Amino acid sequence: MQSWYTQDRYRLTKGGEYSITRSYIDLTGHHSSSHIAECIWSVVAQPKYRFILWLAVQYRLLTKERLLKMNISVEEANCCLCDAQKLETAKHLFNECLWFTEVQRNVEQWTYLPIQLGEVKEVMLRIKRKKWKHCGAMIYHTWRARNWKIIKGVHIQTTEIHTQIKKEILHRINILSSSKRASKCSVFLQRLKV
Ligand SMILES: [Zn+2]
Repeated sequence: MQSWYTQDRYRLTKGGEYSITRSYIDLTGHHSSSHIAECIWSVVAQPKYRFILWLAVQYRLLTKERLLKMNISVEEANCCLCDAQKLETAKHLFNECLWFTEVQRNVEQWTYLPIQLGEVKEVMLRIKRKKWKHCGAMIYHTWRARNWKIIKGVHIQTTEIHTQIKKEILHRINILSSSKRASKCSVFLQRLKV
């Protein structure tokens, strides 16, 4: 009987029991979006990170590409953060852009957690739930830097962003230091504080 359940048809719980909910999620494929939602709407991440990351995952951020598709004219359609002369798409901003990859490299060196780049949704699907969710910080600050460049004409250096991300994440850790969630990743959090 058990083999019938486990032949990739139904997922059993750790205790070997049949779960209607798990099977339903597996059959409908909703596990992808629920995994992403759990990663994003985590108390560990700052609310402002969660909001922008949620929009990015759903391709709802108003990039130049989206504005053009909505027949809204834009002065300059290329990415304003790098010199690649590439159309500003979500894929470019959060995956290919040199400005973003520099921020990503700095964060990676700080956290010792490699982030395999790709489209935002793919990255979020690969991230394990128990790992620190620093992707939101990178997406948020990239989007903010892009807005500052377009609206205020100010170019923010990647080193400045790295310092800001560190400051904000450490501040969040201090706020959550007594929470159950933070205690689950205490070793990693301690490493960041050093
Ligand atoms: Zn770029």
